[in-house]
Amino acid sequence: MYYIGLDVGGTTIKAGLVDEAGKVLESRRAVTVIDDLRRFVLTLTELIRSFQKSFQLEAVGIGVPGLHSSKTGEIETSPNIPSLQNVNLEKLVADQVHLPVVSENDANAGAFGEAQCGAGAGCRHMVFLTLGTGLGSGLVLNGKLYTGTSGYGGELGHTIINPQGRQCACGRRGCLETVVSGTGIVATAREKMKPEEAQTAEMVFEAALRGDAAARWVFQETGRWLGIACANLINLLNPEVIVVGGGVMASGELLLEPAIASARVHAFGPSFRDCRIVQSKLWPDAGVIGAAMLARDR
Ligand SMILES: [Zn+2]
Repeated sequence: MYYIGLDVGGTTIKAGLVDEAGKVLESRRAVTVIDDLRRFVLTLTELIRSFQKSFQLEAVGIGVPGLHSSKTGEIETSPNIPSLQNVNLEKLVADQVHLPVVSENDANAGAFGEAQCGAGAGCRHMVFLTLGTGLGSGLVLNGKLYTGTSGYGGELGHTIINPQGRQCACGRRGCLETVVSGTGIVATAREKMKPEEAQTAEMVFEAALRGDAAARWVFQETGRWLGIACANLINLLNPEVIVVGGGVMASGELLLEPAIASARVHAFGPSFRDCRIVQSKLWPDAGVIGAAMLARDR
């Protein structure tokens, strides 16, 4: 049995041929067309067809950044892909490839992947955080993806930690994502470092590795806020594991260590002791695998 998982990002679409156990057998990539729905759908269908030539496919799963309605199946809005406004992507793609198609918020798909066959495998209650340009998150509670009344739940990145804080990409102010994300790292770095030294989170990471004191402080500070977010999750949900993935987590212990230390300070002791905070096992394929596993199970 073969499934296709598609992980749609603001710049790249990742596609994987995935078996029923969640193993990626082949992967491909394409550029995301953000402002033309017809061409966006065409890119997806071409990726699927490129696998369809050689494999008998069962179903397709698509992870999309944005709000996915569990009531209508439509993508209500996607900040990074403006053409996705009230679009039933499942139907548009299914009509072209004649396969069952499911869609889901990309971080939710990643959470489902980690829970099925990654760092959260075997856990009943798991939170997945993905630190990229922004901060995505998904909840698996009682072994099931939890998305709330309409499908929009699990948006930890847009919980507000400071109403007077930085402007967020979502239009509001002071969201956790403005501090704990690639964008947040750059903004924090620019408070201490020269702008030309802090153009990207990777540049700050490399400076920290070289021992630059300001850059190391940036990771301490970002980790401290990540830990506060984890402590809030721990006190709210009492999860078994918080899995942290995404491009920024390539910086690994530099971020995870202060995060765990800060979570220990801010969470209830007994709840903290019952929760592991670990790196993603499936990165960078969590979204692809999760979308394919959702296609398998829905
Ligand atoms: Zn926000």
